[in-house]
Amino acid sequence: RKEENNNKRSVDNLRSPIVCVLGHVDTGKTKILDKIRHSHVQDGEAGGITQQIGATNVPVYAIKEQSKMVKNFQGNEIKIPGLLVIDTPGHESFGNLRSRGSSNCDIAILVVDIMHGLEPQTIESIGLLKKNKTPFVVALNKVDRLYEWKSHPENDIATTLRKQKQYVLEEFREKVNGIIVQFAEQSLNVKLFHENDDPETWISMVPTSAHSGDGMGNLIALVVKTCETKLARKLAFSENLQCTVLEVKAIQGLGTTIDVVLTNGRLKYGDTIVLPGTEGPIVTHIKGLLMPQPLRELRVKNPYDKFNEIQAAYGIKILAKDMDKALAGTSLLVAYNDDEIEILKEEVQAEVSEALGSIKLK
Ligand code: GDP
Repeated sequence: RKEENNNKRSVDNLRSPIVCVLGHVDTGKTKILDKIRHSHVQDGEAGGITQQIGATNVPVYAIKEQSKMVKNFQGNEIKIPGLLVIDTPGHESFGNLRSRGSSNCDIAILVVDIMHGLEPQTIESIGLLKKNKTPFVVALNKVDRLYEWKSHPENDIATTLRKQKQYVLEEFREKVNGIIVQFAEQSLNVKLFHENDDPETWISMVPTSAHSGDGMGNLIALVVKTCETKLARKLAFSENLQCTVLEVKAIQGLGTTIDVVLTNGRLKYGDTIVLPGTEGPIVTHIKGLLMPQPLRELRVKNPYDKFNEIQAAYGIKILAKDMDKALAGTSLLVAYNDDEIEILKEEVQAEVSEALGSIKLK
């Protein structure tokens, strides 16, 4: 069945890419996420961005709105349904099993403070991205900290750069050149995005200010472009389930729930799921598939909408029995018939054993 599903994949039917934000502490990761998440909602427009579970869905209309100032980027040509941004940057991107790292991300935003350059956790993040072969773009954040920087978030950042005074540009150049050398020391070739005419070879850097909004549209547009050029095949929707447990959470009134990222395939109410637990594999049924309502409605009494079926990619809260022993950072599988259950139990067990090295769970 897996092969059959693979043959049905098409670049005309893309899923949302999973986007992670990595970098050193205090570089502005959270602020960048906030900007991507809220800007549209603050405009007070209908719908809004769905505040998901540890993951935020940024739909195409929000991408268009935020990137409308970007030159040579037509919103109506966007082929992906949106971006699924993992919004737990402190999380080693996905789950608690450290070694798994960012392996579930399709693309990453590596945030560097333009005033500080590469810092210890930047290097650590680069190591993780290399190991998982995750493509990434660089946000050179806090560009507003350059002495006498003039903000124009309504413009393309390339235009805004040209409008700066000579000595601002000189400081900018000096910082950028230093960072290019630091990346080269990590064996990475980086260039400013608007000077990068060979994105296959060079990694693009976008100057941003999560504070003023400068460059944020360019950053989003660059992520979308990179996905559609470099990642289209990988992003072709597949019915083969790919689902990762992000968090295990006790919620008042709901019991212990799991938050998952559904990267591919679909989940249905009643599905028999198999996932690793602290005391061996757990086999149970989906009793609820929840996603939060759009942000603007978060204040209503029940913050979640219920679904009978959800197709990837989304962040989802799952209600099911026996979730208190579930493990974060692992795969969730679905048994489509009872014969599969034992095989799937072995599969999840093998994954956990591999992740934990030789430590075997009972
Ligand atoms: P994180 O630790 O990487 O998530 O960083 P935060 O998003 O928490 O930001 C750390 C600090 O830097 C906070 O005080 C932010 O307000 C500030 N900050 C973040 N982005 C910018 C920016 O673009 N410009 C300026 N001036 N400050 C920023």
